[in-house]
Amino acid sequence: MSKTVSIAIDGPAGAGKSTIAKALAGELGYYYVDTGAIYRTVAYFLDLLGISPKDTDGVERYIDELTVAIEYDEDGKQHMIMNGMDVTDEIRTQDISQKASLVSAHKVVRDMLLDMQRDVARHNNVIMDGRDIGTVVLPKATVKIFLTASAEVRAQRRTDELIAKGQKANYSQILKEIQLRDHQDSTRPIAPLKQAKDAVLVDTSALDIDGVIAEIKRIVGEKIGL
Ligand code: C5P
Repeated sequence: MSKTVSIAIDGPAGAGKSTIAKALAGELGYYYVDTGAIYRTVAYFLDLLGISPKDTDGVERYIDELTVAIEYDEDGKQHMIMNGMDVTDEIRTQDISQKASLVSAHKVVRDMLLDMQRDVARHNNVIMDGRDIGTVVLPKATVKIFLTASAEVRAQRRTDELIAKGQKANYSQILKEIQLRDHQDSTRPIAPLKQAKDAVLVDTSALDIDGVIAEIKRIVGEKIGL
């Protein structure tokens, strides 16, 4: 089997990782792996059981009852399967975002999900986004990118996105949630959010989506010769 290509895109919440990764994966014909969705699925499962995401004993006790699987539909969209049930849409709430951030700090959770993520990349060309892809999951990724933007810009983008969808959005509340998640994700002892030494930093604060895609394509192109 020929060696697979892996592109790791890490960065804080709302930096635009999934938008960029999806677009690029479509163009390259790679699988897009949204690893945040896996942590969200764990958070959702524990939430249904009424286990607090901070309750280490509870998390350790019930985690074995969870089976998580990733499936792709014919359009290449990733679906999250929790004990046989498709929960792709249910995991996309603000409440689950926060709980996923807390749940993902537990060692037992990270250990359980590590091989699963590596397996996808072993067998397929992937663009994988998350917080620890370049540092822990795929330390030998072909290309590593750390995508970021100021918390204010990320909060504004999220606010605009929600409003465009006809949902309620409160900028200050969203900014607070983003700052809290940044703090939790980057200060946890295991696999914290941080730029890998060999990752290219892309600050998207002053760029629009097309600008970011062009920049990432240039970086990827230099490495794999697009
Ligand atoms: O990317 P997303 O916002 O869906 O991630 C939800 C949460 O899952 C993050 O705040 C982070 O705590 C956790 N996560 C992680 N490692 C990853 C991807 C996500 O810890 N590789």
